[in-house]
Order: sequence, then C-alpha cells, then structure tokens
Amino acid sequence: MALSRLKELEAEMQKCFRCSLCKMVPLPTVLNPKYSDGCPSSRQFHFHGYSGSGKNIMALSLVNGRIKVDQTLADITFACTACGLCDVSCKFIMEAERHSVNMALREHIVDEGFAPPAHQSMIKNLEEYGHPEGKIENPASSWAKDLGLKILPDESAPVLLFTGCLQCSDPGAADVARKFARLLKHAGVDFGIMRDETSCGLPAYWTGHRDTFTKTANRLVNLLDDMKIQTVVTVSGSCLGALRSKYPEYARAPKARVLHATELLAQLIKDRRLRLPKPVKRKVTYHDPCYLGRQSEAPLTWKGEYKVTHGCMTYTDPPKEINRGVNGVYDAPRQILRAIKGLDFIEMYRIREYSYCCGGGGGVPLAYPDLARSAALDRLGEAIDVGAECLVTACHHCRANLSKPQQSLEKPLLPVIDIIDLVFEAADID
Ligand code: SF4
Ligand code: SF4
Repeated sequence: MALSRLKELEAEMQKCFRCSLCKMVPLPTVLNPKYSDGCPSSRQFHFHGYSGSGKNIMALSLVNGRIKVDQTLADITFACTACGLCDVSCKFIMEAERHSVNMALREHIVDEGFAPPAHQSMIKNLEEYGHPEGKIENPASSWAKDLGLKILPDESAPVLLFTGCLQCSDPGAADVARKFARLLKHAGVDFGIMRDETSCGLPAYWTGHRDTFTKTANRLVNLLDDMKIQTVVTVSGSCLGALRSKYPEYARAPKARVLHATELLAQLIKDRRLRLPKPVKRKVTYHDPCYLGRQSEAPLTWKGEYKVTHGCMTYTDPPKEINRGVNGVYDAPRQILRAIKGLDFIEMYRIREYSYCCGGGGGVPLAYPDLARSAALDRLGEAIDVGAECLVTACHHCRANLSKPQQSLEKPLLPVIDIIDLVFEAADID
C-alpha cells in the first residue's frame, strides 16, 4: 500500500541531482558558517544516506526494486526529525517534494514491519486512548483545576483552547497551558477546553503510522465539528502544523478556523484587549518551531503531468504550485516579542523557513536520543553565540527537547521558555 504511494512520487525522486544543498540552509542565507548546517541528521552522522537526498535515493531504489527494506535502512530513515528543512532548502534550487518522499518512505518501512521498537508503545497508546502517553486525566481536574474554565461539550463556547499531548506528562507544558488560559480570560475571550481532549496525533504522522494518524485526526475533527467550534487555538506549534497542514492531507480539515496561540495573542495585543504594562528586561532570541513554521502550510492541490526534457530533466505541465515554507507562522511571535517593553529581541542566524530543528520531532527523542541531544545543543549554541540570555519558543516539543540536555549538565546553558511565559509576565495579571 505505502509502496504504491512511494511509486506515485517517483517523478519527484528523479528530480534529485545529488547537489547536497539539502544538508544546509541555502547559501545566500548563511550569516555565520558555523551555523550553516540545515539537516540535524547529516550533521550528526556525516553520511549522505542520512540527508534528504539520501532518503530520496533509497526510496527510488526501493521503488525500482534494487534494494529491500532492512533494519539499516529503517534506522537511517527514522534517525531524522522530519523537520522538512531539506524540503525547503531543495526548493531553493529545485522544485521537488522531498518531505513527501521522506514521509512516504517511513510509511512503507512501517508497512514492512521495520518500525523502530521505541515507537511502539506510543502508537499503541494513541490507538487505544487517543493519546501517546496512555489514558490521560481530564484537564479540568489537572492543569485547569481552579481556573473555572468552560468544559466542552457540557458547556458551549466559540473558541476552543487545544492544549496538546504534553500538558499531562510535562509540568512545563501544563504551566504554559494554564498561563495561556489565564491570559485569554483576562482579555475577555469566550473560550473553553475539551473534557476529553485527545492528541492531535502528530507523533503518528512523524513515525510513519499513517492509519493511526488518520484515525486520530478524524476522531478529533468529528468532535470539533460536533461541538460547532468556530476557532481552535493550539498552545503548541506542533498541533498547529498537524491541524492546519497535515489534517487536510491525511484526513480532513475541521470546519473551525485553526489558530496558534501566538496568532491570537498578537491580535489581542493589537486590538488592545490585552495590555502588556510590565517591562521585561531580558535579552532573548526566538526559535521558530518547524511545525509552526515551514511545516504549517496548507497542502496545495495540483493536477497535471510529469514530462521529461533533455533525456532526464523532469518538469510539470502545467507548472506545479509548491509550498516553500514561507507562509508559516513567523510574524505573530515576532510582533509579540516587539510589543513587550524592555525586551531586547535578537535574531539567530537560521530563522523562519530556514530555522534549525531543535531535535524534538520525528519520534527521534524516543528512538535516537543522541541525535535529539546533538540538535538541541547545536541550537542552544547558536542562541548563546548571538548573545541571548534566554531562548524563547512556541512549541511544547521544542521547549522540552531544548531543555532536556541541560538537565544533565552541572550548569545549565540557557533558560528555555515558551513565548506565553513572557506574555504572561508582561501582562502582569498575577
Ligand atoms: S534533494 Fe534537492 S538539494 Fe538535496 S541533493 Fe537532491 S536536488 Fe540537491
Ligand atoms: S527532515 Fe530534517 S533531519 Fe530529516 S533529512 Fe530532512 S533536514 Fe535532515
């Protein structure tokens, strides 16, 4: 089944001419050669197979029957954070769908029975409970306790605050969700939380479990549609990428408008419904999460033909419109940071669609923790080298993965916080 999906992408695979530019951010955007790597996997393993192009070549060899799936191929494929940098870097010079090939390759490997064992219990939990950690406590009795929030569907509200998986296992994520809820209340937003919130399912997408992802997505979309929600606002950047970009492709889009917390907060600040009176005197930098940024674009549909010219050059007729990552959520977080008095906001070298992955995606922290750690340390080094005292992000997975390697150090390198923490501090509503 997944092999036929890979076969459909054969013409995309044929477009690779092995230039290796998918291993780095596009050369005209390099501001510091120390931070020109784009692919955490290539950086760690120094072997072409680990790059976007390498996976593309392996996929082509599978489709053409030259190789078969084995454990080595599975390990090389899954030691990748599914960050999609290779996709947008390749599109700087070549119009090819690298990320689609990467994900279809994962699905085929899973179909062939070579899924990394470290992902198994997470997938079982998602299938059984709709949540990667297993059965979760009702949010109204855990992180939202004492906040007096509306609980849907027992009550109704036009806006749903969607907290995401990590709020039940990660106290930091629960704290961020709690602060966001308090900010929304303070701004007078009519919102609620779900009594039985499930995961957005992105971990299943990341790990090539297509059916589990589609099932989880459809279950959540049905719930949202039944509750007649007008706007879903996600706390985590990963959930935003799932709902806005992957649901329309793998399941269906909810009827509700999907926003990330930063988009809603930026609007509330602009409309003066949320004021930020307290100065926050800190030098910060911002990490663009992959699934809030380049991986959050809605899929584009195209009907046409692949044609070949000059014996081997593939092109599309009519020309295919492609996502280049430029329409991700990049401005809202920056507008918020610039609205906070006293804050000294400085950019890193790799930003927006060419942001460097934190190492927390693709199921990598579970199956290849050394890769997750090395990507996080590289990103933390970049934040330190631009002079930041604090690294701000907008995704539970990024915050958790950038914090984790520091826990084993005698002296932590840099505090990592969510942008909601900063807004909460500046709003001074305690
Ligand atoms: S995937 Fe794209 S950027 Fe990478 S080697 Fe192939 S053509 Fe070059
Ligand atoms: S998705 Fe990210 S980690 Fe994986 S090959 Fe592409 S750039 Fe490298």
